[in-house]
Amino acid sequence: MKITPLIFKSPYFKTAPDGASGATPVYATVEKPDRLQISTIKKALDELEDVQYLPNDLLYMQSLGANPPFKNGKEALEWIKQSKAQILYADFSNPNVHACLDYSEKDGIKILINSNYKDDCSHPDVLAISEAIFHECGHGKDYDNENSIQEELNCLSLNVLAHRFYEKKYNGVFKNSNSFLYSQGVSLYPKLFFDFYKTALKKRVADKYGYLQSGDDKHPATNLAEDIKRIYENAISV
Ligand SMILES: [Zn+2]
Repeated sequence: MKITPLIFKSPYFKTAPDGASGATPVYATVEKPDRLQISTIKKALDELEDVQYLPNDLLYMQSLGANPPFKNGKEALEWIKQSKAQILYADFSNPNVHACLDYSEKDGIKILINSNYKDDCSHPDVLAISEAIFHECGHGKDYDNENSIQEELNCLSLNVLAHRFYEKKYNGVFKNSNSFLYSQGVSLYPKLFFDFYKTALKKRVADKYGYLQSGDDKHPATNLAEDIKRIYENAISV
């Protein structure tokens, strides 16, 4: 796909972040991507295009109550082309935000990636960026700014399914990747979703997304989302 560098008239906007805890607003300054960034995004999209879910993984995620918005990586790529979503780097006011989506009817869809990752071009980094793009595509697919715990669970399932596919495809590729991007991001959720006990998963999602409604019209809440909402409400009522 063609990625057009953009200069934004008003570079600051409030946005719904993935990575920060709770409802704290995060501001993003969108950067004009340089050659290296464009090449990293291109590599990430090439990886994403080949993502297939491991068959048992998909059934497992669905049984938990997380429904991936795309059948595979190729479908997300097709959606990017068709929606004309732009993938750009941004400087976030909270450095722990991995990526976020900005949507407006007027300007369309922008997927913003934390510019701290811009020079990180190791193979695992490219894979991690592709997972972040996959997640944000899941949010973008419904063309609205509404979010819910269920929508997050569905989008998180994209990360998890892609991550496990990459681990298998590139045997042990994330083994030595311990930075924040991994430990609190792409490597964390596969661990939490596939843990026998779901306590840590529910707590984590409650901490980060519990302030959201449990479900919405396009993403009706499953029991998992309702449980997470209850955990959040119990925690704040103490
Ligand atoms: Zn999200």
